[in-house]
Amino acid sequence: MSLAVVYTRANQGVESPLVTVETHLSNGLPSLSMVGLPETAVRESRERVRSAILNAGLEFPARRITINMAPAGVPKSGGRYDLAIALSILSASGQLPSEKLATTEILGELALAGDVRGVQGVLPAVIAARDAGRSLLVPAANTAEATLVAGANTFAASTLQEACQHFVDKPLSALAHTRGEAGVAAGQQHPDIADIRGQHLAKRALLIAAAGNHNMLMVGPPGTGKTLLANTLPGLLPTLSEAHALEAASIRSVAGQPLQPMQWALPPFRAPHHSASSVAMVGGGRHLSPGEVTLAHAGVLFLDELTEFKRHVLECLREPLESGMVTIARADYRVTLPARFQLIAALNPCPCGYHGDSQGQCRCTPERIARYLEKISGPLLDRIDLQVEVPRLDYRELMGDAQQKGSAASSAALRANVVVARDLQLARAGVLNSGLTAAQLDSVCLLSKDSDVLLQQIVERLRLSARACHRLIKLARTIADLEASKDINPGHLAEAASYRGISALSVSPAL
Ligand SMILES: [Zn+2]
Repeated sequence: MSLAVVYTRANQGVESPLVTVETHLSNGLPSLSMVGLPETAVRESRERVRSAILNAGLEFPARRITINMAPAGVPKSGGRYDLAIALSILSASGQLPSEKLATTEILGELALAGDVRGVQGVLPAVIAARDAGRSLLVPAANTAEATLVAGANTFAASTLQEACQHFVDKPLSALAHTRGEAGVAAGQQHPDIADIRGQHLAKRALLIAAAGNHNMLMVGPPGTGKTLLANTLPGLLPTLSEAHALEAASIRSVAGQPLQPMQWALPPFRAPHHSASSVAMVGGGRHLSPGEVTLAHAGVLFLDELTEFKRHVLECLREPLESGMVTIARADYRVTLPARFQLIAALNPCPCGYHGDSQGQCRCTPERIARYLEKISGPLLDRIDLQVEVPRLDYRELMGDAQQKGSAASSAALRANVVVARDLQLARAGVLNSGLTAAQLDSVCLLSKDSDVLLQQIVERLRLSARACHRLIKLARTIADLEASKDINPGHLAEAASYRGISALSVSPAL
């Protein structure tokens, strides 16, 4: 047989489309050509494949070899096809039985000596191969990822010889499925909210944010613990469902970040530096790597010093905040990446940090403060349901709090409340409150007559847009859910409205 077909998988966002490697041997001067528009990296694999085959003690056919990688439109980069190409050449030259190769997909980069090296994005390929009903041969270095998918039939090889023998006389044993360590308490990785003194308002807002998956902004002078407060949020969130955990792990796999068994099923927490570029934030670059918004999918994106981020970087957040996805367009194709994250942001109220502070002396002019806050545009603020001030605590508050520290609710206790409130929301509408559509709002968030009158007053006083008004109702729904209250009472609405008008932000012309 001088024609062989071998299956492998590409990386496209967090998807893993099928790629077919067709190898044809014909008579003529010995040569190796590749078609299917592979990138430079794939052409380089020609040399690795040749060396690896020879060093494995196998025969590299002295014939005219043509390799076609289809479909041509799928971007192909990296050495992930080396092993598939090598096995395809060996099959075309009769050194491997072709029928066994037809039911297995192959992934792996080759070293010159014939060792199989690990590649990025194995997890999505395992899921795709399972769904296609084929088994998958992966590099031994990727074993941990490959075992996470239930129902997949995977094998791991560490050398080209092992891979070949698998198809001849020494089949590898299938990898056993291992569930991730979902039991690791989130609290072990994040500071406990009970250890933070004072700041009851911010803590209350964090609880509401966790319960309804609402975005949150903290405004306050430097050193009041905004960063620490944000870091406690993942500890208030329930562990991820199996599907979400796999999604989050797939994203890490594509991004080339090693899977930590301790991280499995924990909501991701990403805190990019304010110097981050828009590519770092939303993804892109030569290899179309996922950005921070995607790495935070199903978890938390924390932006400290919000006003220090470049304006166009912040504007990039609007699409994912609205749709839960981010689209990266290229000349010849586009990739959509998941980006459903919870945004937590923190900022100082003015350039010096002391505007509105009882003790600090702010020397900023109103114009300077307005310019400073201009960057966070109205549309971005509109999407942040909870806006709280994090003031400096005076000595008495600090000490008074220290005495009753033992009674503060722990992260684990609050997480239990969050789980109950979330279960209510999911049973009622199938989504958390922040994700309710306008149509669902009418059926799920019925207002009593009193509440309706109050809402009208609030909307007029705060001059809320229609979107902001909807978000206010959703927030009130979450506050009611935390009390397991069927109705949204005026008290719930009033509390929700209190998270909307921060005096420090009122100088912003965008509001
Ligand atoms: Zn100032």
